[in-house]
This record gives sequence, structure tokens and C-alpha cells, in this order.
Amino acid sequence: MVSRVLGLQKGIIYGPVASRRLGRSLGLNLSPTAYKVCSFNCVYCHYGWTKDLTSDLSAYTKDLPTPQAVEEALEQTLETLDPPPQYITFSGNGEPTLHPDFEEIVDRVRAVRDRTGTRAEVAALSNSTGLVDEGVFRGLAKLDIRIMKLDAGTDEVLKRINRPAVDITVDVIVEGLKKLEDVTIQSVFVEGAVCNTRDEDVNAWIDRVEDIAPRAMQVYSLENAPALSTLVGVPAEKLAEIARKVKERTGIEADTY
Ligand code: SF4
Repeated sequence: MVSRVLGLQKGIIYGPVASRRLGRSLGLNLSPTAYKVCSFNCVYCHYGWTKDLTSDLSAYTKDLPTPQAVEEALEQTLETLDPPPQYITFSGNGEPTLHPDFEEIVDRVRAVRDRTGTRAEVAALSNSTGLVDEGVFRGLAKLDIRIMKLDAGTDEVLKRINRPAVDITVDVIVEGLKKLEDVTIQSVFVEGAVCNTRDEDVNAWIDRVEDIAPRAMQVYSLENAPALSTLVGVPAEKLAEIARKVKERTGIEADTY
């Protein structure tokens, strides 16, 4: 494992990256580039610790890209990129749905994709905390693919693993995910100084998965150096065991990475 967390993305567009889960994916970063702001402070985050932990970016707008800037940057990239990406993915330096104009940006990105004739699907990797906002919900619903985070079945594990901004609970997240159609759940499992793989953690998490009834599941462990350096990745056999339990209890196929 590399020993240092990744540097922040330096602009709106990055990649294309060869994503294990999304093939050749062009990344869209809607977050500041000089520091990390997020509604979670996940112990495994490969961008390191969250500097500003908040679910309200209204005080940060001067450091956020405008919808027009996102549209122009994407159009320029798609006009010159050969071969084109398979996916255009909202992800980046923090939670993309925290951007106050997220829905408008989704509309513009889809329009650019269509205008340039790029046959890429538009996706988001989201931590699910923005679903309480109607505009964010509508924006996510307009995407081709929604890959939404759920690492915890209880608030105790949420606090341990994701260390959220104070106003977020598992109940709120799950209620939002239940209303969103055609959702893929992504879940990270870790061990070491902090862990979410105890039987009671996994069972409570599967209860939530059952409640949400997603179309697909992605289960994985550390991909890069984590914020909390004493974390340990979960072996492939254990991830496969978790996936087997999900299938057994919910009938949903969980892919492991
Ligand atoms: S939600 Fe994503 S960006 Fe935010 S701290 Fe967690 S892993 Fe990092």
C-alpha cells in the first residue's frame, strides 16, 4: 500500500481515470481545489482528513466552480478527448452534491454530453448526505447511474467510520435512499484501529440494505492510503463473505473489488 494520501484534484476536470468500478471515467470535481470540505470525514478517505466538515457550502461559493465554468470545461475536454470516456462522473475532492447548484450542473453536463455526441453515461459517486435537499434529489434522479455510500447500519458505526457533520443520521440517509430509484449502494469495509466488520456491524448494515432494496451493491476496502494511517484493508475472502451474507439475506448480488 502507498503510504501517503492522494493530493487534491487541481481543477474541475480530471482523468480520464481507469476506474475499477466505472471503466474509463472522466472525473468532475465541484469542490474547492485548495482544501478539503465535505459532509463526512471518513477514516479511509484517500484525500486525507476533511479540513472543513459541513453540509452547507453557502459560505464557500467563492471557491466553487460556477455551472457555466463546469459546462465550458467539460465541452472543451469532450471536443478533444479521443477516445471518449465511458463515463462522466461527479466525484472529486469532496461530496459533489454539496455544490449549491448541483441540479443545474447536472442539467448542463447532460446537455453537453448530448450536444457533443459523446456516448458516455453520466454518473455520481455520492456519500448520500445530500438527499435531504430536494434539488440534490432531483439532480441525482436525472443521472444515468447513482452510486451511493452506505458503510454503516447504526449511528455508532456512522460516527466511527464516516465521522459526519453533526446533523446527519443513518435513518435520514436510508429514508433518502429508499426514495431514490435505481440506486447502487457502495460500501467500504475497514479494520485496524477502527472497524465496521464485526458481526453486529455487518448485520445492522444488511438490515438497512434490505430496507433500501438497491438494484446493485459494490463492496470494497482500501484502494489508496487512508486518512487514518493505522487502518488495515479487509482481505478479499472476508469481503466475499460479506457479499455472500448480503445475497443470502436480501437476494441482492454484491460485487466485491
Ligand atoms: S465522503 Fe468521500 S470525500 Fe468525503 S470524507 Fe468520505 S470518502 Fe472522503
